[in-house]
Amino acid sequence: MIVVMKTGSTAEQIEEVSTRLAEEGFKIHLSQGVEKTIMGAIGDRSRLEALDLEALPFVEKVVPILAPYKLVSREFHPANSIIRIGDQEIGGNKVHVMAGPCAVESREQILETAHAVREAGATFLRGGAFKPRTSPYSFQGLEEEGLRYLAEAREKTGLLVITEVIDARDVSLVADYADVLQIGARNMQNFILLKEAAKCGKPVLLKRGPSATLEEWMMAAEYLMDGGNYQVMFCERGIRTFESYTRNTLDLSMVPALHTLSHLPVIIDPSHGTGKWHLVPPMAKAALAAGADGLIVEVHPHPEKAVSDGKQSLTPEKFKVMMDDLARLTSVLDRELGEVSKRAE
Ligand code: PEP
Ligand code: MN
Repeated sequence: MIVVMKTGSTAEQIEEVSTRLAEEGFKIHLSQGVEKTIMGAIGDRSRLEALDLEALPFVEKVVPILAPYKLVSREFHPANSIIRIGDQEIGGNKVHVMAGPCAVESREQILETAHAVREAGATFLRGGAFKPRTSPYSFQGLEEEGLRYLAEAREKTGLLVITEVIDARDVSLVADYADVLQIGARNMQNFILLKEAAKCGKPVLLKRGPSATLEEWMMAAEYLMDGGNYQVMFCERGIRTFESYTRNTLDLSMVPALHTLSHLPVIIDPSHGTGKWHLVPPMAKAALAAGADGLIVEVHPHPEKAVSDGKQSLTPEKFKVMMDDLARLTSVLDRELGEVSKRAE
């Protein structure tokens, strides 16, 4: 249910409505736009009818949200949500590229990659310190040591850091080092992890589960918002289909679908979405054409030696070629590529 306040309503009037709603057991989420204040009221709908809020002169209307996701829906926040991370904004006119290796393997590897991707125009450094691997015998990540290398790379390059958290017990540790927490595809419905990430104070990139429907994915984001974290980004990374040439099937229709149903930014991962490096640049371009707010791309200085996902990793040289193409494409789309802030130079 959302309560739309009339334009120009005062803080006291907003307070009066929230108090009445709280008395009836509703949980309130405020969305304050430039013109309008919208209140998301989660609770028993029959009690809302009894309250008759529309009788109040400063309430414009009360609208039920029929979809199961509420705070994630466009109705709750009609304008696009802008996620502010350091000096950067995601969800506005600028398109951000997050790039780096699948896994942080060593200090040298992450620093070399960070400098290269920054040079090519990325604004965020990616790299897993905790790796969710299909096999227990595969490299599991450098853990806190890896987080320290990422933080050092941020220090040296001005790139912001995005890294995955796979366990609720590590959320505060990862949040101490990272600028954005990534919740991976395998954990999209790990509700304990989502609830913990909701309290971490950092933005979250929520990847789509390999067989999650759009609605399940939006409900996972609802957990984050309901837990108080409004800084949420969706990330499509391909779904499991019958096709076996590609690692996953990158579902680019999710970009306009999410932009219709939700106010949250959408990031595309063409690396996991295809599993093949030569498919990454064309799908990255297609993602921007579809309206994506950003990309997350795997780059490794020596893909043939990568401990994970080498086949889908671009070399720094190939990444640079792709970035130059993307720069041209964004201008046609009336958008711009994000840039590392001048202060970091
Ligand atoms: C990753 O980004 O390296 C990763 C493990 O991604 P996903 O969760 O999409 O498989
Ligand atoms: Mn990977």
